[in-house]
Amino acid sequence: MIVMKFGGTSVGDAGAISRVCEIVGGRRLLSPVVVVSALAGVTDGLLRLETITQNGTREDLRVAIEHLLNRHRSIAHALDLPPAFLISIEADGTALLRDLESRLGTMLNEEARDSLASRGELWSSRLVAAALARAGLPADWVDVRPVLRTDERFGRATPDLVGLSDRGRLTFGRLLEAGRIPVTQGYIGSTVNDRTTTLGRGGSDFTAALLGTALDAQRVEIWTDVDGIMTADPRIVPEARTLAAVSYEEAGELATFGAKVLHPATQLPLAQAGIPIQILNSFAPDRNGTTIADIDPTSEEADTPIRSISLKKGITLVTVRAVRRPGPNTFLHALFETCERHELGLDVLTCSEAGASLTVDDPARLEKALPELRRLGELRVEPGRAIIAVVGTGLRDTPGIAGRTFAAIADTNVEVISQGASAINVTFVVREEYASNAVRRLHDEFFGTVVCA
Ligand code: ASP
Ligand code: MG
Repeated sequence: MIVMKFGGTSVGDAGAISRVCEIVGGRRLLSPVVVVSALAGVTDGLLRLETITQNGTREDLRVAIEHLLNRHRSIAHALDLPPAFLISIEADGTALLRDLESRLGTMLNEEARDSLASRGELWSSRLVAAALARAGLPADWVDVRPVLRTDERFGRATPDLVGLSDRGRLTFGRLLEAGRIPVTQGYIGSTVNDRTTTLGRGGSDFTAALLGTALDAQRVEIWTDVDGIMTADPRIVPEARTLAAVSYEEAGELATFGAKVLHPATQLPLAQAGIPIQILNSFAPDRNGTTIADIDPTSEEADTPIRSISLKKGITLVTVRAVRRPGPNTFLHALFETCERHELGLDVLTCSEAGASLTVDDPARLEKALPELRRLGELRVEPGRAIIAVVGTGLRDTPGIAGRTFAAIADTNVEVISQGASAINVTFVVREEYASNAVRRLHDEFFGTVVCA
């Protein structure tokens, strides 16, 4: 069997969903399980209802929910889907309005927020299942939540891997054996008590990976709106090209450092199971895309030791200079403890007993941690930074890459430099306004394009 995951833009409108039907139909003999994201923009739209609940009126809520439902209705209309299938979406929209009305003027708790956000995938999967059925395919809508059990960390729940395979086979295996095509939700799960959770933004890829592992898939296909993983963001480097193959480790590093194509946790379970991932473009399904697998870095695309240069903006650089106190130095311990407790998720970190520089991409979490960080020493907080990561397995055993990297951006003011523990990336922090130029120069250095900065 294979898992086929379609992202938000790939199911964003009637035309996109028609293409999905063709693509799935073409792979019918491979026994696909279809995993979908919410329609593009719907998760954001749902999460905006939280603010409306807090500050708006009943009428504001009604209008906003109608707007979201209309997206689904108009697609159903355009694809000429039987009206019956909309009933469940309509009923859920009404239930949602009632629920949020009863919370007007209050802040949603994390559980209510997850229940809200989960609607996007619940609705889109109904739509896609109905569209596939309309196209003559034996599609069945499946609620993923009883299969994808998680802990109770609403908003970023951790899946329970114990028994996942059994639950998956019970639900999906049975349908596949009967020649059916299950259509289910990415991003959402539930606790053992059936309370709906989410895996964190962009989590549908992770769901696809988990189901692929649980069902021992031949491969997991991630269908999106670009051709695959590229040597750089083409909006910054027009000459950037799509990579035919990258290793699991490289894909993980690139996702962590800003490549939006894949959720950073996706490759972990699949790497362990040795299941390849294919990134494909649902708007150009004949292109080869990028394969993520156990590849030999010396044989594939060996012309360059570097695979890609990624860029992550919206970073805050925090520098702490330790206050010297008599007795044993507990600075690092206290620093790590604070970062861990506030779940700061540091991407780049350089430290010694004298102080540390670290990057944080979540200003709200940082804000909460600041009073404690201040107690550790003299603090500098600099927003508006970007992380650039040069990633490639070749970094490990090709001498001189770090030197070439720094020579290429010699005139850029680099604030922090770090070589990742995996030894397949060199990362550095620069001011956001210098970032694009630095990426272009690095691309030029490693991929030989001629650029005028
Ligand atoms: N719909 C969710 C989001 O927008 C999950 C996903 O698309 O992967 O984050
Ligand atoms: Mg995504």
